Formats: sequence, C-alpha cells, structure tokens
Amino acid sequence: MYPEYDDFYEPSEGEMFFDEMKEKFREILREDVNSEINRLTEENAELRQKVKEYNDKNLNLSCRERDLQYKMDNYKREVENDFYNKTMEEVFEKLLEDSEVWYAEHVPHEKPKCNLCNEERKLVAVYPNGETVTKECECSRPTYIYEPVISLNKEIKFHKAYKPRYSDKKKIYFTKNHRPNKDYADAYDYYSEFRIENIFDDFNDDVIAYHNGKRYGEKIAFRSKEACQKYCDWLNVNEEYK
Ligand SMILES: [Zn+2]
Repeated sequence: MYPEYDDFYEPSEGEMFFDEMKEKFREILREDVNSEINRLTEENAELRQKVKEYNDKNLNLSCRERDLQYKMDNYKREVENDFYNKTMEEVFEKLLEDSEVWYAEHVPHEKPKCNLCNEERKLVAVYPNGETVTKECECSRPTYIYEPVISLNKEIKFHKAYKPRYSDKKKIYFTKNHRPNKDYADAYDYYSEFRIENIFDDFNDDVIAYHNGKRYGEKIAFRSKEACQKYCDWLNVNEEYK
C-alpha cells in the first residue's frame, strides 16, 4: 500500500462495503472451490476405483479368454488326433482283418504201405530169363486230401495315386494280397496265381453256390478253421467226381 499515507487514510463507507463484498465473494469462492475440489477428488477416487475394477475385469476376461483359447486349441488337437487315430485304426483294422484266412489246400498224404512192394515201395519182377524189373508201387503215390491251411500274412501294399490333372487330392489306398501257406507255396507258380476271391464266415449253401460258379484257380477262404474244415470235407466228397 502506501505506508506514508496510512495515518491520513480513512476508508469511505462505500469502500468498506466494497471490501466486505469482496471478502464475502472470496469466501463464497473459496467454499465453492473447496467443495468443487472435494467433489472432484471424490469423483476421481470413484473413477480410479472404476478404472481399477475395469482393469481387473479386463485382466480376468483376458485370462479367461486365453484359457478358453487354450481349451479350444486343446480340444481341436484332441479331435484331430482322435480323427487321425481313428482313421488309421480303421484302415489298419480293415487291413488286418482277414489277413490270415483258412483255405482248402490239396495236401498229399502217404498211403499205408501195401504188402506187394519192397522196403522202398517198389515192385520187383523177375523175368524167366533172370532179368529184374522194378517199378514204383501204386501205394507210393500219395493221396490228396483237402485240408484247411492258413494263408500267409497277406502283403499289404501302400499305393499313392497322384493325378494332378484330374484332382488336387492325393489318394492313398491299400491292396490286399494273400499268399499261400509257406508249406505249399511251391505248388503255385506265382503268388499272383494264388487268388482268394471270397472270404466266408461259415460253410453253407451260399458257399456251395459260389464254389460252383467260380473260375478255376479262384479260391474261397474262411475266417475259421472249423468252417474251412466243413468246406474241405465237402470238397473231399464232391471233387472226386471232377
Ligand atoms: Zn506198395
């Protein structure tokens, strides 16, 4: 202010009123500002709380989202594995099924020795001039009997056909190839000539009908030795006339 004029200064009523009003305004303003600050502080705290809640929720959500994604991936993987396992299992199941089947083999059997031949089953005749002639005895010729024998494990061939001209897809397929029993394989010139055309569960009229209609060289097989034995019994009786 003006210190040298202080003693002489006497404020007017108007000035006093003005000062009072100023003070009142100041107070009002102060209160307003304070309450505004308080309000804002509270609001700020509330917002902070909300942001915190939001972040917590968000974190929780993203955790759950990750968890869900993980579960989904896992499930997808499981389903895929299951699919591939199943397909492979099914493929191999079908391939391994009937891999060893029973078929009727013409098995040679030695006849009992007759009493006309010598130890080597030879007939020895002596001509009047002393010349001797030996001949294989009839009893040395084996008799053939149909018997059930098991085929060798069929060869499982894996083929991959790739025809980009017709299809984009690679095709994979397997073929079955039965082989004769190893003890009788020599009787077949080539494995390819050993052909099992049909496999049955049991011997019945259908099998007889199929047998009568099949071509020479085609074979019928059975899934059990018992059923094949029945077929062999039937062959041993009926094939003699052919
Ligand atoms: Zn003999």
